[in-house]
Amino acid sequence: MRQYLKQDEWRIIEEGFSPDHHKASESIFSLGNGQMGQRANFEEAWSGPTLQGSYVAGVYYPDKTRVGWWKNGYPEYFAKVLNSPNWIGIDVNIDGETLDLFKAADVEKFQRVLDMKSGVLSRSFDVTLNNGNKLSVKTERFLSMTRNETGVIRYSVTPEKDCKIIFSPYIDGDVENEDSNYDEKFWNILETDVDEGKASLLSQTKKSDFQVAFAMETEISGTDNFDIQTVKNETFAGNHITIKADRNQTITLIKYVGVCSSLNHKPDELTGAAKKQASEARLLGFKTLLEEQKQHWENIWNLGDIKIKGDVAAQQGIRFNIFHLNQTYTGEDERLNVGPKGFTGEKYGGTTYWDTEAYGIPFFLMTAPQKVVRNLLVYRYKHLQKAIENAEKLGFTNGAALYPMVTINGEECHNEWEITFEEIHRNGAIAFAIYNYIRHTGDIKYLSEYGLEVLVGIARFWSQRATFSHDKKKFVILGVTGPNEYENNVNNNWFTNKIAQWCLTYAREAIDIVRKNYPERFEEIAEKVNLDTSTETSVWKSVATNLHLPYSKDQEVFLQQDGYLDKEQITADELSPSVRPINQHWSWDRILRSCFIKQADTLQGIYLFEEEFDTETIRRNFAFYEPRTVHESSLSPCVHNILAARIGNLDKAYEMYLRTSRLDIDDYNREVHEGLHITSMAGTWMSIVEGFGGKRVYKDGKLRLSPIIPHQWKEYAFNIRFHEKNLEVKVTRDEVEICSHADEKISLIVYGKEISLAPGKSIKEPINVNYHA
Ligand code: BGC
Repeated sequence: MRQYLKQDEWRIIEEGFSPDHHKASESIFSLGNGQMGQRANFEEAWSGPTLQGSYVAGVYYPDKTRVGWWKNGYPEYFAKVLNSPNWIGIDVNIDGETLDLFKAADVEKFQRVLDMKSGVLSRSFDVTLNNGNKLSVKTERFLSMTRNETGVIRYSVTPEKDCKIIFSPYIDGDVENEDSNYDEKFWNILETDVDEGKASLLSQTKKSDFQVAFAMETEISGTDNFDIQTVKNETFAGNHITIKADRNQTITLIKYVGVCSSLNHKPDELTGAAKKQASEARLLGFKTLLEEQKQHWENIWNLGDIKIKGDVAAQQGIRFNIFHLNQTYTGEDERLNVGPKGFTGEKYGGTTYWDTEAYGIPFFLMTAPQKVVRNLLVYRYKHLQKAIENAEKLGFTNGAALYPMVTINGEECHNEWEITFEEIHRNGAIAFAIYNYIRHTGDIKYLSEYGLEVLVGIARFWSQRATFSHDKKKFVILGVTGPNEYENNVNNNWFTNKIAQWCLTYAREAIDIVRKNYPERFEEIAEKVNLDTSTETSVWKSVATNLHLPYSKDQEVFLQQDGYLDKEQITADELSPSVRPINQHWSWDRILRSCFIKQADTLQGIYLFEEEFDTETIRRNFAFYEPRTVHESSLSPCVHNILAARIGNLDKAYEMYLRTSRLDIDDYNREVHEGLHITSMAGTWMSIVEGFGGKRVYKDGKLRLSPIIPHQWKEYAFNIRFHEKNLEVKVTRDEVEICSHADEKISLIVYGKEISLAPGKSIKEPINVNYHA
């Protein structure tokens, strides 16, 4: 589907009617507002291929685990964010024939547009029905970012001759998940209610007992001559609005919808709350809601836009990613998180992976108010007890915590042993995110409030998970899966050992910080978690100091894991394109025995701890590992882009950037119909700001920039926040301009030189593309 969509700086545009692309477009044109989201399903009937998807944040169903061979320690269920009742539906009937583009005689001038400036999805087309009627149709819809329980649709029809139109706006609770382990339906419908121009439906998830109420109010314009009938059954509530339309008369239906869940309302007040949202929206009217929406997005773009001149494809790509990230997570609710597919598909079911900490947090840290990342961290704090129970199930003791690989409520949902039990580096990402937050914000109070308890649980896990090898005279960590999921049950994965070592050290530092700055609170925590600051922390120190970190003297690189060099050493460019991606062409056995790396692994560690390594070390490791990496996870190219830029390899950095920036728009992996790669979108942002922009914050807590510019770009500019101060960085082929939008002085380091910027001032420095060369 490469280049199927038109390039435009602010809009995603599909031109021409193509049912084959419809499922992919349903993903790409998805809408969300943090509280709910939906695929770009059509409002009117559609009998072609589709994945119906409407999601309510935090509402899930515990689908009973299904595995071939049960292993002790597997979770009982996989918590799925589920397809919820369909509230966008508007059937359209013209002189007895239902409008269904898949069955229509002809569709012309079809256009679908996602306007990223305002968060509005629109469509227009001319259609000829099988009964000979011709109509022009225009639709617009958005999920209000300002009122996150409100959605609005404006649907206009202009017939070419006099006809009878029946609009049937509805809410339908008879929905299913494509992904259901036992082909169950996940919803009970508790009540439906209708009135003229109104309908509502109260739904309840089976087992988990979440309740969600939906209410609609409608408005007709373009005629006064219509008649309304109500229609409902046990799972469906709507209206039939019959209109006698004259030729060329445009009739418009506006559907205002309220969606309220029991996460935010008492169950017995839900339907009332949803009705209130719908009627308030109707009173405000479409135009006012749209103005609010535009204003809301303008504020987001002011804080987080990236501008690229001279490369429309790149500009569209990065805005698409920033847009979707902001639609997915708004940071107001610490019970919510960022799923790998956000609100755009069912794959990956549960919401939270290590992706949030490793990729999402670097993005939100620099583009959103501080509370957004704080809430993502608190989400994990609230799951600490579950992480301790999870570790207990696997045999760990004394408050050791192992966070889940996939979760929505803190319980592990993943059920492949090599990931559930072995991909434990996720614990490291969660600890690192706390450190990352503190070095970007200076909010050490977070450690005393929440962070320290999490760090202690994680340190306890690593100190127990490491065992002493009498042969090596070192501590070792056996039987793990690193970020490279194309190798399982390996010993001493360098990345895992490195991050474990760091966690053990940082937990001790955090203890010192809290003890010094918040002594009373420290005593409280020590008592609560039964922390023995003499013997226990000296064990952590001893494990950290004596942890085996495999190294190849021969290659002079950190060794991905013990024995990695025993494998046949070939590089990815020696593979025939016909076997790529290898996960779709090779047996799992062959993949496991090969040297090929799915995604950054050793290099992921070098990325995190970059300041510890000199340029030559980074260069050698990059030169060794990148050619062996097949980048079959969307999370891979961005880390390679950042390191390539760091070692002055601009061409490689750009090549890697291209692989991440338009992954979904151009459907590189032929899988966009399943949903978008929301978490890897944060990686694209990292590629520009950390890769080309050279943004770093090291242990000294200072902001560093060392921008370079790809040959293909004339100019680019990004906004960042640091300690709640906003900066704009413009990079041209000749110079770097940094403007402060802060109201206090801000200090930073540009190409190694300390700079202090007064409020509202800017400075210019000549570009130094050879800074890292
Ligand atoms: C990657 C993981 C990632 C997951 C969800 C997998 O393909 O290997 O690192 O957490 O996708 O994005």
